[in-house]
Amino acid sequence: MDESVRPRRLAEFVGQSELRKNLQVYLDAAKKRGRAMDHLLFYGNPGLGKTTLAHIIASELGVNIVSTSGPALMRGGDLASILSNLQANDVFFIDEIHRMPMQVEEVLYPAMEDFKLDLVIGQGPAAKTIKIDVEPFTLVGATTRLGLLSAPLRDRFGIISRLEFYTPQELSEVVLRAGKILGVKINGDAAMEIGKRSRGTPRIANRLLRRVRDFASVFGEGSIDEEQTRHALSRLDVDEMGLDEMDRKILSILIEHYDGGPVGLKTLAVACSEEMRTIEEIYEPYLIQCGLIKRTPQGRVVTARAYKHMGHLG
Ligand code: ADP
Repeated sequence: MDESVRPRRLAEFVGQSELRKNLQVYLDAAKKRGRAMDHLLFYGNPGLGKTTLAHIIASELGVNIVSTSGPALMRGGDLASILSNLQANDVFFIDEIHRMPMQVEEVLYPAMEDFKLDLVIGQGPAAKTIKIDVEPFTLVGATTRLGLLSAPLRDRFGIISRLEFYTPQELSEVVLRAGKILGVKINGDAAMEIGKRSRGTPRIANRLLRRVRDFASVFGEGSIDEEQTRHALSRLDVDEMGLDEMDRKILSILIEHYDGGPVGLKTLAVACSEEMRTIEEIYEPYLIQCGLIKRTPQGRVVTARAYKHMGHLG
């Protein structure tokens, strides 16, 4: 379903208004010049629309998109063969670009700068480097962790844009739009309720819509209303702030086992039986955004708001 509701054009992309306006200018300028657009790097939490924007850029420019991810590019040769097959001005999308191996990164530098590949032929003292040209392309990189990108790679992007969490209002638009495409009848209040509980993330809004639709088709009839939505979401264990079971587990471990913190990430991950990366990249940013936890040099601490939300006296 992600595919069918993915916006195809910039005008269908909800929210991120600043970024969208700027992107329109870069697209218009590239089209006017008839050249590849500058390389772009998008960073932000998973599900905020980075991949969607890469596809939108390609379709707005009327070019192909070739997609891969940092961990899939194991050797320089993998990258060289993709780059040498690109057509002029294509979009080349690398998801999780911070996970690309160093030796692959080095092949990418001259390609990003001059659209050239340095190929090493032969081995030992007889080895020779030859330069071959590749067609001009636009690299679109996506990362959840800007800080993990090496400085030389970051510096080679002309445009670096951050994707922000969406407001409940924006997410309700995402839900209404997806509902229309999927043929799910849902009223504005119900869409807003999903919007409020989607952790600022369109991917989650779409997922909750699909689950609410399942409940509504079993228990209700006609258009999905606010009450059905609340009922379905509570059955799914998604609370009024959009926190799910793992979010609440993190908060309750901090409160009940560690007196509210500070607790180091590693300890927290072990206590939650979850990977450090998942906690740091998926759960924490939203908990911080909601003002429920804070990161301090000593570790994570919960706020008075978290005590209140979890039903403890702060
Ligand atoms: P990311 O690459 O940042 O993890 P995606 O681009 O895959 O996120 O987005 C996840 C899903 O959320 C997409 O399939 C799309 O349906 C939806 N989505 C993301 N951003 C928007 C948006 N601004 N407007 C409407 N739908 C969106």
